Amino acid sequence: MIITLEPNAPISTSVALLEAAGALRKPARTMPDGYGGLLIAIDGSLPDDLLHGPGVAGVHRQHQPYVLASLEHRARSTVTVGDVEIGGGRPVVMAGPCSIEGRESLLRAAHAVRAAGADILRGGAFKPRTSPYSFQGLGEEGLRYLAEAREQTGMPVITEVMEPEQVDLVAEYADIIQIGTRNMSNFPLLRRVGQLRKPVLLKRGMSARIDEWLMSAEYILSGGNLQVILCERGIRSFDPATRFTLDLTAVPLVRSLTHLPVIVDPSHGTGVRSLVGSMAVAGIAAGADGLFIEAEPDPERATSDAAQTIDPDELFEIVQRSRLVAEALRAPLPQPVRSLVDTDVRELASVAD
Ligand code: PEP
Ligand code: MN
Repeated sequence: MIITLEPNAPISTSVALLEAAGALRKPARTMPDGYGGLLIAIDGSLPDDLLHGPGVAGVHRQHQPYVLASLEHRARSTVTVGDVEIGGGRPVVMAGPCSIEGRESLLRAAHAVRAAGADILRGGAFKPRTSPYSFQGLGEEGLRYLAEAREQTGMPVITEVMEPEQVDLVAEYADIIQIGTRNMSNFPLLRRVGQLRKPVLLKRGMSARIDEWLMSAEYILSGGNLQVILCERGIRSFDPATRFTLDLTAVPLVRSLTHLPVIVDPSHGTGVRSLVGSMAVAGIAAGADGLFIEAEPDPERATSDAAQTIDPDELFEIVQRSRLVAEALRAPLPQPVRSLVDTDVRELASVAD
C-alpha cells in the first residue's frame, strides 16, 4: 500500500501511520514525493479506519512492486554531484578511459575529456574482466589518480565497485559509485551501497528484464540512499555483429515507470567505435538524461575496450549534438488550428490538393 501525505500534513499523521504499520508488523518506508509531500510505502495494507488522518492525500492499494523507484505518486528526481545536475534537462556526459592505466595517462585523458565538454570523469580502478588473466585494474592506486584528476580538472569522478568489502574504500574517493552490469543482481552489494548517502549509477544487467533492473534499484533506495541513476548499457542478443544490443526502447519505457534519471552507455552498448556517436545522440533523442562514454586521447592504445573507445574530438561532437537534440526535444511545436483527429477526411484531401 502507498499512502501520500500533503505537504502540510501534521507530523502526527505520519507518526500514527508508521506506528500502526509497526504494530501490525508490516515494514514501512518513507520518501519525499518530490512535490513537498511524503510518500509512505507499507508492505501490505492498514485497516481503513487508520487511513483518514489530517493531511492524507491518497491511499493506493494497486501499485508497482518497486514502490520507491516507481513514478507512481511522485515527481521525477534529479541527482546532483558538485555543480552537475543529472535529470535536470541538460544532458550530462560522463567520459574517460575504460581502465585507469597510470597517473600520466589518466590526467591527460581527464583534461582532454574536460576540454571536449564532459561533466564527469569516468575510469575503472577495479575492473570486472571476463578472463582472470586480463588486467584487473590498479585498485587503490588508480583511485588516487582519479582523485588527483578531480583536483586538477574540477570534475566529479565515477568509478566501479565490485564487492561489498570494497565499498568504503571506493566511496572515499568516488563522487558516484558505479555498479556494473555483472553486479546488477549482486544483492549484498546493492544493500551495501544503499547504506551510503552518495550517488550510485546502476547499470542494467546484460540479461536483465526492466522490472528486475528496477527491483535492483529498489534494493538501493530501500536502504535510504535515494540518489540512484540508471544506465542502459546494452543487452545480450543473438547477433555478434555488435558486442551488445543497445536497447534504446528501454529509455522511454523506464522513464515512464520510474522517477530516477536514466543515462545511456553507447560504448559498451555497441562495442564498436564507429557506432558510438550515432547511438549516443540516439540515446538523447530517446529521452536519456545523459551519456556514459569511453574516451581518451589514444583510444588504440587502451588496455581494455580499445575497440569502443573514442577520441576527444569525437566526444566534442557528441556533446554538441546531444545538446542540440535535447533543445530540439524541448522546443515548442507549431499548433494545428484544430484537432486533426476530428478533421473530415474529404477536407484533408482538399487541403492536400
Ligand atoms: C565499464 O563501464 O567499464 C564497464 C565494465 O561497464 P559494464 O558493467 O556495462 O560492462
Ligand atoms: Mn569498458
